[in-house]
Amino acid sequence: MPEKQQIMSVSLPVSCETYNCFKKVQWAIGRPDGPRELWNYYCDDCMRDVVSNIPAELLPGSDNTSTDADTFTCEYCGKAFKSNQAVVTHQRFCKAKEDG
Ligand SMILES: [Zn+2]
Ligand SMILES: [Zn+2]
Repeated sequence: MPEKQQIMSVSLPVSCETYNCFKKVQWAIGRPDGPRELWNYYCDDCMRDVVSNIPAELLPGSDNTSTDADTFTCEYCGKAFKSNQAVVTHQRFCKAKEDG
């Protein structure tokens, strides 16, 4: 099974890939089983900036999205939910599941 794209702690004597940042690399984003030339490298400060500014819709289980489209639907009764977490919770107790 292929590894997932992830943030890895590294220590390399090269400078951060952020524009105009020359600090030492401490973090890499990429797949552990992939070629290291394709990883993205960032210093500690830049990585912290990124994770502290993650858009709300990227946060796990987030309900903060301003869209009013219900994109997650129960596979048993078809009811729509705003987050994957909500639909998973619903499906656990869905009445239609018991009927079918
Ligand atoms: Zn940096
Ligand atoms: Zn349901």
